[in-house]
Amino acid sequence: MPSMTTSKVSRWDQHGREHIVHVQRAGMQRSLTCDTCGWRQRAQFLPWLKAEEHLAEAHQATVDPTETKESREQGTPRPQGTREPRASRDLRASRDPRTKNP
Ligand SMILES: [Zn+2]
Repeated sequence: MPSMTTSKVSRWDQHGREHIVHVQRAGMQRSLTCDTCGWRQRAQFLPWLKAEEHLAEAHQATVDPTETKESREQGTPRPQGTREPRASRDLRASRDPRTKNP
C-alpha cells in the first residue's frame, strides 16, 4: 500500500529496468512525471494508481521493487542525469490492443 508520503512510483519491466514516475504536489492536484519517457499527467485522485497504469501500459513495468528493497530511498536521492527521452512510438506500439498479452 502506498503511503501518503510517497513521492514516486517505481516499477521494473521484464528486462529488469526500473521506470520511475515522480509524484509532486501541485495545489489541490498532483502532477506526475515519468522519468523514462517524459510523460506528464495531473491527477486529483489516486495519482499512484495513474502512475502504475502508465508504467504498465507504456513500459510494461509491473514488478514492484519494494518487495526486494526496504526503505532505502529515504535520504538517498538517486543520481540524475541519465534520462533519455524515449520515442513515443514505443508508447503507441504498446497501446495496440491486439498485442496486449503475449
Ligand atoms: Zn513513461
